[in-house]
Amino acid sequence: QKPQPSDVAIAHSFTPKTIGRLAREVGLFSEEVEPYGTTRAKVRLEALNRLKTQPNGKYLVVTGITPTPLGEGTTTTTLGLAQALGAHLHVNSFACVRQPSRGSNFGVKGGAVGGGYCQVIPMEEVSLHLTSDIQAVMAASSLVVDTINARVLCESTQSDKVIQNIILVPILFGSRPIGIFARFYLINSFQTPSKQLSGYVASEMMAVLALSTSLGDMTRRLARVVVAYSRKGKPVTTEDLGISGVLATLMRDAVKPSLMQTMEGTPVFVHTCPLSDIAQGNSSILADQIALKLVGPEGFVVTEAEGGAELGMEKFFDIKCRSSGLHPDVVVMVASVPALKMHGGGPAVTAGSAMPKEYSAENLTLLENGCNHLKRQLENARAFGLPVVVAINTFSTDTDAELGLVCEQAKLAGALEAVPCSHWAEGGAGAVALGQAVQRAAETPHQMNFLYDLEMPIDDKIRVIAKSMYGADDVELLPQAQKKVALFSKQGLGNLPICMAKTHLSLSHDPERKGVPTGFTLPIRDIHANLGAGFLYPLVGTVSTGAVTHSYELLSVTHMNAELEHDMEY
Ligand code: ADP
Ligand code: MG
Repeated sequence: QKPQPSDVAIAHSFTPKTIGRLAREVGLFSEEVEPYGTTRAKVRLEALNRLKTQPNGKYLVVTGITPTPLGEGTTTTTLGLAQALGAHLHVNSFACVRQPSRGSNFGVKGGAVGGGYCQVIPMEEVSLHLTSDIQAVMAASSLVVDTINARVLCESTQSDKVIQNIILVPILFGSRPIGIFARFYLINSFQTPSKQLSGYVASEMMAVLALSTSLGDMTRRLARVVVAYSRKGKPVTTEDLGISGVLATLMRDAVKPSLMQTMEGTPVFVHTCPLSDIAQGNSSILADQIALKLVGPEGFVVTEAEGGAELGMEKFFDIKCRSSGLHPDVVVMVASVPALKMHGGGPAVTAGSAMPKEYSAENLTLLENGCNHLKRQLENARAFGLPVVVAINTFSTDTDAELGLVCEQAKLAGALEAVPCSHWAEGGAGAVALGQAVQRAAETPHQMNFLYDLEMPIDDKIRVIAKSMYGADDVELLPQAQKKVALFSKQGLGNLPICMAKTHLSLSHDPERKGVPTGFTLPIRDIHANLGAGFLYPLVGTVSTGAVTHSYELLSVTHMNAELEHDMEY
C-alpha cells in the first residue's frame, strides 16, 4: 500500500471554489459578505439579523478522549463529518472550527487545519493571517499596555487620581516576560514540542471575542475586562482607562466569522482561538449561530470542542452554551486505537525515534485497558443528557479485531453507536456511516442539562467539575484560592460559571497520568475573575508551571518596574 501524501501535498491538489460562489451556495447575500482575496470572506452580523426567524439546524459537538502525541484527530473528524453530510449525504452542513494560533503553524503541529483528505483550503490562508483577527486582538492588547505605560509613567506626576496608584497586573493576556515588557500576549511561536502548550493565544480578549453574541455584547464585555489593580486592590477596567470604545473599534471586524471551505467544498467558519486548557477552548458563538441559521432546520452544524471531553466539552456546555442559549443535539466522541493504547499503558513516544511496536501491531490487552479511558470520557459526555456517538478515527495500522473491540466497549459504556471511519484517507466518503449514525442520533428524544447550577457556592461548583468530570476524590483550595472564594462571593461574582485552567493531557492535574487516574485530590492554587469573558478561572495544580507559568503569574512590581524602565530607554 502506497503511503498517503503529506497534508500539504493533498491540500495543494484541490482547487477551492471562489468565495462568491461559496457564499451564494450557503445562502448569503452579497452585501453580507466581505471578501478577503478570492477564497475567504468575513460574514457580516446583519446576516444573523436577517435570518433570526429561521429555525436552527441540528447542532453537533465533536469532542474527544484526552489528547496524546499519537493523535486522535478531532478537527479532522469535525471536517470529515461535515464533508460526509454535505458532499455525500446531500444535506446542508457547516463546520465550525477554531483558528489555529500562529505557533501551531511553524512545524510543531503540522501546518493544516484538519488533516489528510479533510482539511480547510487554501491551507496557507487558513494557517497564517486568515482575516487578521489575531492581529486585531494583539493590537487591542498592545493598546491596553501602552495606555497603562503612558498613564502610569507620564501622568503619575499629574493629578490623575485613579491612575496614579495603578500597579500593572497583566493577568489577562497570557503575559510572558519576553524581554520587552508586556509584548506579551499570546504568541509563542517557536516553542519546542516538549513544552506542550506551544503557540497559544490566551488573552481574555480572545475569550471575549469567542463568547460575544453581537457587536454590542462584545463592546460591553471589553469594557468590563480588568487590566490592572490599584494599590488599594481595586480592579481597573479598560473602561476606567477610557479605552473600551477604542478597543471595540479595533476588534469590530474580528467579531465577524471567517468563511472558508473544505477540500470537498463544504462551508467552514474558522473563527477565534481560545485554548481549552487556559480558556474556554471553543470557537465562536457567532459562527455557530450564523451557521445554524444558514443550514436551515434540515441541516447540520458540526462544531469542535478542543481537548479531552472533561475540559473543552465541559466548557462548551457550561460556558459557551450558557452564553449562546443554544442546545446541541448530539455529542460525537473521537477516539483512535493508537491513542487508546497509550491510555492503556503503552510506552511514551519520543520525537525522532522509531514508533514502538505496540502502536503499529495488534495489541488487544493494551487497547482493552485504554478503553477504560474512553468509558470515563463517555460518562462525561453523557452527563449532559445528549446522545453520544463514538467516531473511531482509523489509522492504517488498526486491525479489525481492534476496531471491533473499541466498538463493543463504547456501546457497553452507553454510546448510542460506535463507528470506525476512514475520512483521513478517503475524505467525506470515509465518514458516511458516521454521518448516518449522527442523523439517527439527532432524531432520538433528548434534553440537555448543565453540569452545575450557577447559584451554587464557588467551591462547590469547582468540586462538582473535579469529581464528576476528572474523577478526583475531592478538591483542595490552597489559601490564595480560599481568599478569592470569599472575596468574589462578597463582590457578588459567586454566580459566574467556572473555566478550569487545567492541563489537557490528563483527566487529572498531572499531565503524566494517562488512562483513568484515581486517588487524587485536585489542588486549586488561585482563582481569577475574567469579568469580560464572564467566568471564574481556577488555576489547577501545576498547569501554571512551564510554558504557561507566566500567563498566570502576577509579575512582581519590582520586575515590572525594571521592565518599564527598560522600555523607557527606547
Ligand atoms: P486534533 O484536533 O485532535 O488536535 P487534528 O485533527 O488536528 O487533531 O489532527 C492532528 C494531526 O493528526 C494532523 O496532522 C492529521 O493529519 C493527523 N491525523 C488525523 N487523523 C489521522 C489518521 N486517521 N491517520 C493518520 N494521521 C491522522
Ligand atoms: Mg483540533
